[in-house]
Amino acid sequence: MECLKRALESVIPKDRVSFEEIDLLAYGADSAIPPGSSTRPIAVVMPKSREEVLHILQIADRMRIPITPLSRGSNIAGSAVPIQGGIVMDLRLMDRIIEINEDGAYAVIEPGVTFHRFSQELIKKGFFCHLPTASGGSSPLANYLMRPSGNHTAKWDPDPVLSLEVVTPGRGIIRTGSGAFNEDLWQARYHCIPDLTGLFACSYGTLGVVTKASVKIFKRGEEERLLLIAFDSLAPAIEYMKRIIRGNIAESVTFWTWGWNMFHEMMVSKDEQMPGEMLKEDQMNPPDGIPFGIASARLNGYREVVNAQEEVAIRIARELGGKYLENEIAKAKFPGCYQYLESYFVKGIHPKPGEESQIRAGLHLPGCLISAEPEKIIEIERYMWSLAKKEFKPPYFYRVLPYSHAREFFFAFVVYVTGTLSENREYIMKLRKIYGKLYRELLYKFGAVMFRYRKDPGFFALTGNYAQFLREIKGIIDPNNIMNPGMLLF
Ligand SMILES: Cc1cc2nc3c(=O)[nH]c(=O)nc-3n(C[C@H](O)[C@H](O)[C@H](O)COP(=O)(O)OP(=O)(O)OC[C@H]3O[C@@H](n4cnc5c(N)ncnc54)[C@H](O)[C@@H]3O)c2cc1C
Repeated sequence: MECLKRALESVIPKDRVSFEEIDLLAYGADSAIPPGSSTRPIAVVMPKSREEVLHILQIADRMRIPITPLSRGSNIAGSAVPIQGGIVMDLRLMDRIIEINEDGAYAVIEPGVTFHRFSQELIKKGFFCHLPTASGGSSPLANYLMRPSGNHTAKWDPDPVLSLEVVTPGRGIIRTGSGAFNEDLWQARYHCIPDLTGLFACSYGTLGVVTKASVKIFKRGEEERLLLIAFDSLAPAIEYMKRIIRGNIAESVTFWTWGWNMFHEMMVSKDEQMPGEMLKEDQMNPPDGIPFGIASARLNGYREVVNAQEEVAIRIARELGGKYLENEIAKAKFPGCYQYLESYFVKGIHPKPGEESQIRAGLHLPGCLISAEPEKIIEIERYMWSLAKKEFKPPYFYRVLPYSHAREFFFAFVVYVTGTLSENREYIMKLRKIYGKLYRELLYKFGAVMFRYRKDPGFFALTGNYAQFLREIKGIIDPNNIMNPGMLLF
């Protein structure tokens, strides 16, 4: 320990290294890993530059100490909890927005930048970013690398990352995309050479530390509008989403079941109390006067075009049995929910700067994120309802949104657990086990893929040669397997 302390303090100022129990405790748990179920780290470091990152990795590699990088630590899958102990590298002090390039429509950011700040800065320049409903305090860089479940640019592309700068234990600093040619060239993901940006996507800190990324940004139109349609079931809502996305009518659309809409209401109200209706035994049927679900679409562009888009979308919705919900009526009936959706879909900022995990005694949303073809999503819905009835305590709810021209859909099912992590330890561990097993079930039954890896090396092995090839690459860039080994990916 003394040796490690001396080594770390020789490359980073003392006030950015901690061996104090009080600091370490905070890193040993997250909303998916209850306190006491994981090892706490032996040290936490907070670098401010890629050189510091490199020196720390070299020390950890020499001493064979695991290192878990995190950008803001807000993922809800336990992927930044140091399951095998070692050093946590907290990157929140590397928080520069290096460039917002209006000409090339991209921005260069560091890991500590939050969605809240990034979106605020972009708004000033007439742009917005791919904004998932992730916490406003989470990092766009980390979120985009985990394959974001988002809404703003769902029509175009679920992958906003272009070039990366990555620090690795085995090969030092690597830049991908156009950045490989020159440190100031950030605009392109694909060049005349094979793409390596994708290697680091969905690698959850197991291959290196990403210290910079260039990401796509999108122009705001002169008109931005929220279009709300109520549906009585999922099937027509899926058809509606398919048609309006593939017809280039909306930029994004998300279908939220009633429980999720009530959750929005609660998030905005800051009310400590969960409305009694949310705990209803029969979660498939909403309370009286509340629609089963609402599809919220973002329309964005020139005014005349947006007017026409709205008209067409309402016609399509009606043909499918959906009911147009006027903004003013929605605002009066469901004020919190409306405020939440308007903030996302029109203003383009998270309604909360990231304090939502602290505003109540408990806000834990263990869930599974799945992507599948449109028809399969309807079968998955049925499957999840029956699983939930057997295993989960109310409230639980889902949302669905299309990806990349509605070729695949994203399905997020969450269970809302109130109270502290310690109180709910057993229940949360049980949920983790259930989700862990779902991987194979969903793949073989529905051809569906779970987002975000859940620590099952057997699953990775199913990919055969692919796993073998990746292991060989891993052997080159992290030969001593120090990078986030608790993920059990390699
Ligand atoms: C209330 C709530 C709602 C959420 N809803 C959504 C949602 O709708 N959509 C969605 O996509 N997400 C959602 N999330 C999840 C969360 O916001 C994302 O996973 C998040 O963006 C990633 O968290 P982070 O930025 O704090 O990354 P971290 O938690 O810090 O890290 C995530 C993973 O990436 C690795 N990592 C982080 N930074 C680096 C780096 N610089 N280099 C290498 N590896 C790194 C870590 O080791 C870890 O494995 C939600 C979270 C909360 C709390």
